Amino acid sequence: MQDDIHYTGPSGIQAALKSFNVTATYVPVDSYESVFKQIDEGKVDAGVVNWLYGQTNQHQYNVAPTNIIFDPVDLRYALKKGAPQNQYLIDAIDSNLISLKQDPNSAYYQALDSTIGPYTRTVSRIPGWFYPLVFTAGSILIFSLIFTLGKRGYQQALKREIQKRIGQIKDSEEKYSAVVNQAHDGIAIIHDDKIIFANKAINIIGYSEKEIIGKHFADFIAPEEVKKVAGFYSSRMTGTVTPPMYETKVRHKDGTLVDVEISSGIINYLGEPADLVLVRDITQRKKLEEDIKLQNSILTAELDASMSGVLIVDKNGNIILYNQRFVDLWRVPKAVLNTKNSQIVLNSVIHQVNDQQEFMRYIDYLYKHKSKKDHQEIELADGRTLERYTAPLYIDKKTYVGRVWFFFDITESKQQAERVAHLEKAKTEFVSVAAHQLRAPIASIKTVSSVVRDINADNLTKTQKDFLDKIVKESEQMNELVHFLLRISKAEGGVMTLTPSPIRLDRLTKDIISELGDIVKRKHMKIKIVKQPSTLPKISVDKNALTQVILNLLANAVEYSPGGSEILVTISLHEGLVRFAVKDAGIGIPKAEQQRIFDKFYRSEQAKEVSGSGAGLGLALAKSIVETLGGQIWVDSEEGKGSTFFFTFPAASETAGIGDEPDAKPTAEPSETGFNN
Ligand code: ADP
Repeated sequence: MQDDIHYTGPSGIQAALKSFNVTATYVPVDSYESVFKQIDEGKVDAGVVNWLYGQTNQHQYNVAPTNIIFDPVDLRYALKKGAPQNQYLIDAIDSNLISLKQDPNSAYYQALDSTIGPYTRTVSRIPGWFYPLVFTAGSILIFSLIFTLGKRGYQQALKREIQKRIGQIKDSEEKYSAVVNQAHDGIAIIHDDKIIFANKAINIIGYSEKEIIGKHFADFIAPEEVKKVAGFYSSRMTGTVTPPMYETKVRHKDGTLVDVEISSGIINYLGEPADLVLVRDITQRKKLEEDIKLQNSILTAELDASMSGVLIVDKNGNIILYNQRFVDLWRVPKAVLNTKNSQIVLNSVIHQVNDQQEFMRYIDYLYKHKSKKDHQEIELADGRTLERYTAPLYIDKKTYVGRVWFFFDITESKQQAERVAHLEKAKTEFVSVAAHQLRAPIASIKTVSSVVRDINADNLTKTQKDFLDKIVKESEQMNELVHFLLRISKAEGGVMTLTPSPIRLDRLTKDIISELGDIVKRKHMKIKIVKQPSTLPKISVDKNALTQVILNLLANAVEYSPGGSEILVTISLHEGLVRFAVKDAGIGIPKAEQQRIFDKFYRSEQAKEVSGSGAGLGLALAKSIVETLGGQIWVDSEEGKGSTFFFTFPAASETAGIGDEPDAKPTAEPSETGFNN
């Protein structure tokens, strides 16, 4: 029939006749009915129809069946074009066919038996080259007939015809033996338990063709496999169906065992059945299979041990892999997972998600943007929060093969973070209230004690005066502490009033340095300031708040450095950021403590030895302010050698100096503050 695989296909009638050098005129038709009609009417000599159609309809026409049955090489299914379940259906049909083919008693073989019959089925695997043997035997028979008939003239004509045929047979025999000898698979024929033919490639088991011919086939099979292989062989010989292909081990000449795959079928050898066997070395394949199995079991173990739910989906939406954690997190029923269809799985879990629309929109977006990596938090209706991370899977970095999804249950950590944030807020509020309440009594203590001390100065004993001095001094310190706390809680609570304006950092720093004049002088120190480049952009920050920061950093540098040492302030530009750095040659900060010094009330042991008065709040306030203003602050320090504190702010668009009063010393050279001795 027109376009039928049995007409033009690789095993169709055209190819078959061509391989036997038979020329024919083909009449393609549109229906099986027309095939039978044309034979019936004598328009054609022969026709090919579907087996079932032939069986049911042959009696209605003047047609006779032949024994020729075309090997059912291809199975074709028709599915709805572009339907999402197609790949799933194809995979399911394929996997079922594979398992049916592995069972000789399956419905697959029963169906073949009832249509083609066991004999025809085995014959269908006979290689074509064996037919010349049959032809040769036929020719001999014809010769003897001719002699008995004794009709000479007829005999000669027949002789010519026969010689022609023998010539053709020889040609095709040569052709087939070339094919057999060039084959990569070992080919052998076993008759009466003995090997009667082998090709060159049989040396995959170490023997030459000559060494193997005449030997019992079981001599070459691994001992533990002999029973199975011999069992298949004798079943085939008695016409019982056996698997057409199976794996076993053969004995190599060097004593090792070789993994092979055997395909076999019965052929006719001089009127008796013989076993035609194809032997393929699958050592390499086995090794790869073992490797893959190992990799798979490692992966499965890893996945099962993983705290995250994992789902891997191929490019068609079929599920390749998932772990138990995934099943538990999403509570997916087993039957749903068994469909291996991610769409079905998605439909079965979507009702658990709070914002289903957003969830679906996101999935749709990722299917359209294959290369996207992303992560997202998903709130579930039962109160859980899942964090989802997804990334595409590529082979060789370019071929998209699917997507992997990871799911983590972050309900606990999210609640924890919320609790911490809540506590922090409550703490800040408490500190703020406490500081407010303390302000008035401290102020009273300070005022009253200084008044008592100053008014009664002449009547006081030395001890009384010392006590009053101490009260005044400590109430001043307490007052300062309370102010610090208030400022910090304002910064942390986000209630600090900030008015950003363009600031020249170098000028502000110089002004602050002059404020520190007294202490710097007392300790015989120098503070140098360097600008790089000489014209720097301004920064847009709140001046009062930043003054606090610089003052704290400079005061610390002076406080924690030895007398007579030098402090260097550098203001520079780095990739669009204005950077302030204050470097001292002081006590330094041990590595382990460098992060903690920005915590409230933290003071290093060395710092406590050097200065007893600090409260450990200056850096905490500086950090709060810098971060609130959109900058960054950090330290680089070596214990015993000194520290450098940095902060950065983005440069404002306007550069320093424009529209501003000129710089006293617009130079990159160090300019000294005048507080040096
Ligand atoms: P305080 O100086 O009142 O202790 P800070 O918050 O300003 O509080 O500093 C916290 C701690 O950081 C200090 O106690 C000290 O241990 C360390 N530190 C700050 N600046 C320096 C510095 N320039 N050199 C060495 N240590 C420093």
